[in-house]
Amino acid sequence: MLANKNSQADPVYLSNTANLEKYLKLPQRGSVIAEYVWIDASNGVRSKCKTLPKKPESVSELPEWNFDGSSTGQAPGDNSDVFLRPVSMYPDPFRLGDNILVMCETYMSDGKPNAYNFRHDAAVVMEKHAKHEFWFGLEQEYTLLDTTGWPYGWPKNGFPAPQGPYYCGVGAGKVFCRDIVEAHYKACMYANINISGTNAEVMPAQWEYQVGPCEGITLGDQLWMSRFLLHRVAEEFGAKITFNPKPIPGDWNGAGLHTNVSTKEMREKGGMKHIEKAMESLAGRHKEHMKVYGEGNEARMTGAHETASYDKFTWGIANRGSSVRVNRDVAEKGFGYFEDRRPASNADPYQITGMIVETICGKVEGADVFSSSQQQQQELEMVVPVAKP
Ligand code: ADP
Ligand code: MN
Ligand code: MN
Ligand code: MN
Repeated sequence: MLANKNSQADPVYLSNTANLEKYLKLPQRGSVIAEYVWIDASNGVRSKCKTLPKKPESVSELPEWNFDGSSTGQAPGDNSDVFLRPVSMYPDPFRLGDNILVMCETYMSDGKPNAYNFRHDAAVVMEKHAKHEFWFGLEQEYTLLDTTGWPYGWPKNGFPAPQGPYYCGVGAGKVFCRDIVEAHYKACMYANINISGTNAEVMPAQWEYQVGPCEGITLGDQLWMSRFLLHRVAEEFGAKITFNPKPIPGDWNGAGLHTNVSTKEMREKGGMKHIEKAMESLAGRHKEHMKVYGEGNEARMTGAHETASYDKFTWGIANRGSSVRVNRDVAEKGFGYFEDRRPASNADPYQITGMIVETICGKVEGADVFSSSQQQQQELEMVVPVAKP
């Protein structure tokens, strides 16, 4: 928390939760605040709030809403309405009570998904292959930056000592911003996000948390909401979150989004042969996967720092230098899951999980996780240039 040492004399605005707490306690007279969250054109999240007359029992009771897509790079000015359709809701860890966070899909006025709505096609593909009961567990790595854009805790005009003591580190000078990490962990739990753990990463000021296992499309919903929570918590501490896959060039680890995957068949006895079959399918579509596995991933996937090469698909048991790793434990038992280590930290979990289901189980007519959204995006970007952070 930013200190508010001289709030009486200093006219400069400083965030002060002690003040805020007073207002959080005020009764809402039956009304509920719903924070509608959506994904914008630059892979970030946006949100706005709506007062509801009463607590909704299910997501189907939540009204559709809209926003000005020309202000987010998601629509041209002459057709700027983008519609928000709620897909899941979560208890709000900031406002507490009956207040909720709402994850939304984005649609245009003609009923077509917005160019940045990657959930729509992924959900269609997953629904079609629902009998395989896909589970996903994603390891979200990220880096904390100060307001100047330099990693938190790093010397102002230089670098910390080389990597080694920081991964899962404990102690001053080894880990930075543990308070933010703790706050985010609890916020996720309160919000019913299936967060399965957290750890300090190899580069100082870099952290990881895992979400999953979650079935099908719910992984994407929960991971996006967990990203919203991370930005929102860090905002209170005056820190910036970056999902840049290689925030600092050179001998510093990049950030990934390892994607652990299993189907019902892989989790059962003899599942290893289903994992092996999946490896053949993944190998055959490596280029397409890399195209949706995050921007700037080439800088991360150098073959060093526990990554594989960008151009070639490989898989191996217990090998952190291959595209896909199968746990030694899984190989010994003969069933379980695999870990796709290729996705970058800034990739869209809907695209990753949608592509994996599509590649392993086959395409579904009318939904194309790989190409449809990319094409729409290119068309829109010609009219509405997007500022990438
Ligand atoms: P790593 O050893 O690569 O750091 P982590 O412990 O960080 O692995 O993450 C492993 C992830 O795998 C967790 O998010 C967990 O939920 C997920 N996971 C475990 N079992 C399965 C499974 N059968 N299917 C899919 N995901 C799984
Ligand atoms: Mn991990
Ligand atoms: Mn990691
Ligand atoms: Mn991993």
